[in-house]
Amino acid sequence: MKLHEYISKRIFADYGIPIPEGKVAKSPHEAKQIAEEIGGQSIVKSQVLVGGRGKAGGIRLAETPAEAQKFAQEILGMEIKGLPVRKVLVDRAVQIQDELYLGVTNDRAARKPVMMASAEGGVNIEEVAERSPEKIIQCHIDPVMGIQNYQARDLAAGIDLSRELWRSFGKITHGLWEAYVENDATLAEINPLVVTADQKLLAVDGKMVIDDNALFRHPDLEELRDLDLEADSEIEARKHGLSYIKLDGDIGCMVNGAGLAMTTMDIIKLFGGEPANFLDIGGGASAEKVTAALNIILTDQNVKAVLFNIFGGITRCDLVAQGILDALQEVDTDVPMIVRLVGTNAREGRELLKKAEMKTADTLAEAAKMAVAAAKG
Ligand code: GDP
Ligand code: MN
Repeated sequence: MKLHEYISKRIFADYGIPIPEGKVAKSPHEAKQIAEEIGGQSIVKSQVLVGGRGKAGGIRLAETPAEAQKFAQEILGMEIKGLPVRKVLVDRAVQIQDELYLGVTNDRAARKPVMMASAEGGVNIEEVAERSPEKIIQCHIDPVMGIQNYQARDLAAGIDLSRELWRSFGKITHGLWEAYVENDATLAEINPLVVTADQKLLAVDGKMVIDDNALFRHPDLEELRDLDLEADSEIEARKHGLSYIKLDGDIGCMVNGAGLAMTTMDIIKLFGGEPANFLDIGGGASAEKVTAALNIILTDQNVKAVLFNIFGGITRCDLVAQGILDALQEVDTDVPMIVRLVGTNAREGRELLKKAEMKTADTLAEAAKMAVAAAKG
């Protein structure tokens, strides 16, 4: 889950990283009030979860509060890379002397976190990474030991940071590392980390990505999830503990287990069909869960057939079958459904379904063929 700039910077500040004074606004009037509080020049920044906002015109320097209001009005009406801007951050503007880069992420190949710094931060860091990777200094961090002072000094020296700033830089690297670890982030990045005209380091931009699998440990962050970014059906699925990804095909899939769901999609394709979604209902498929899942699958207008592929290990097939039947009582649909059940109590499950005149299949291949045929009408 990506965090907005203003949230990332607030977290950074909690870890002792200096950030500019500022607040987030939802209306131009609010933006004006914040600019008045700050006094002097302010910078109005769109809060959307994409990079390159500056280049897209989503960041403007305002001379007066009235101008901050005007820019906020314009920016709040924008879409940046397809995302609507719903909030702006109004920060005290700073006199920038240099723009540095500082970030920490996982280096999968090295199986360690890596901290990276560059003297050429700012909006063109991707180009720097591509054209002159030697300008990005890296150091791997032992996850148990954390970042060491000598490593912070190596980074500072590597980017030719002036000596007076080393102490502050050291604190920032430690703060960033701790923010990264304690929030279960997969990325914590300051770009640019600026050297101000009065020789101070300041995190002007901030970005964090939190590992979705660790979100349960951060309910306060989970609440901040930006729903604009996600399809409604995916949001609904998460509420019910389902993993659902919408795809472009016409065969809805309801499967227990992620691996089996992938296999089901492959088999559908093998027989000339296209899956409409990936859906893992997980273990212990209760009627409630099946109902929720079926509703989500059927909100997709493209779905012309639904394939249930359930392996009953811990989950008992007769309970799943009953779940499917209960769900169908509540969901009004004439989309054809094909069910393949194997495992514990499969026979009992199939009996239940047959009594209710549902189409069942014994093997996955058979089920997939039936689903493909049903979808083709
Ligand atoms: P991004 O384009 O989405 O990465 O947004 P950033 O927050 O990194 O801002 C883009 C650029 O705007 C920065 O690299 C700076 O050059 C400039 N900028 C941001 N804040 C300030 C500020 O307070 N004063 C000045 N002069 N420029 C700023
Ligand atoms: Mn930036």
